[in-house]
Amino acid sequence: MIDLPLSIAKRVHAEGVLAFPNECCGALLGSVDAVGTQELRHVVDILALPNTREAEEQYHRFVITPEDYLRAEQFARTEGLDLVGFYHSHPNAPARPSDYDREHAWPNLSYVIVATLLRDGKAAAGDVTSWELSLDRSRFDAEEQVAL
Ligand SMILES: [Zn+2]
Repeated sequence: MIDLPLSIAKRVHAEGVLAFPNECCGALLGSVDAVGTQELRHVVDILALPNTREAEEQYHRFVITPEDYLRAEQFARTEGLDLVGFYHSHPNAPARPSDYDREHAWPNLSYVIVATLLRDGKAAAGDVTSWELSLDRSRFDAEEQVAL
């Protein structure tokens, strides 16, 4: 489960619009609560990270380097937060994870996807969804968004 406040969703929107027609990517920072047997990830900040895929592939792929992953963890720690997931955008595509996304994801993190598109000739953000990898890594499940 994820607690993704509107203020954070708007920042992810803005990153997606900025990167359009390429994919943006970044880290979700916050804290984790146990709710019964489930984890509830509260997102309180984001950290934009460079998309290090080759330029001609960035319209449908993103890569976060191990160095940037570490940097995100360290940045989170300096803010007293944890790395709780990642976000990226899907330019001109639905906000659903691809097989590529699944193969490059880890369990116990939230994966937020924002669809980006041209609207009236300008880049705009569409749906925002959140996903969690199953423990056996076979599938992404839509993550329940709780409003607190
Ligand atoms: Zn994707």
